Amino acid sequence: MAVLEIITLGDDVLRQETDPVPKLTKKITKLINDMIETMYAADGVGLAAPQVSVSLRLIVVDVGEGPLVLMNPKLVKAFGQELDVEGCLSIPGKQGYVGRSTHIVVEGLSERGKPVRIEAEGLLARALQHEMDHLNGVLFIDRVEDVEDIIEKGV
Ligand SMILES: [Zn+2]
Repeated sequence: MAVLEIITLGDDVLRQETDPVPKLTKKITKLINDMIETMYAADGVGLAAPQVSVSLRLIVVDVGEGPLVLMNPKLVKAFGQELDVEGCLSIPGKQGYVGRSTHIVVEGLSERGKPVRIEAEGLLARALQHEMDHLNGVLFIDRVEDVEDIIEKGV
């Protein structure tokens, strides 16, 4: 496994619409493992493929319950609304209040290529919505309603 470079705000790849993962290959499995290692190395709770310059619909998340991998994730249900602080590994040093659904259902493929359905709430729901946004070129700063809500992370 290898720690990959995380690209930051200003890089065009972060703003691109991503392509579906066509099929599970050894190369994709290696990418998944590298993304998990990269997420842990950066002390993040999630990482999307475009953040490591790969424009594919692939995310990894770990909110403290072990790594969760989703290929081609789709939001199938969302309800509730909650405002909370969010940051992004691609926008270091910044945080902001972002409204997210409190409960969601996501369908996609696991790291083994098997269909999975995930019901999530709280931090996991927030992390999944944040990472899925990346697949559409959307960043949390786009969802912060007031620019003054972007706050510098305390050192
Ligand atoms: Zn992010």
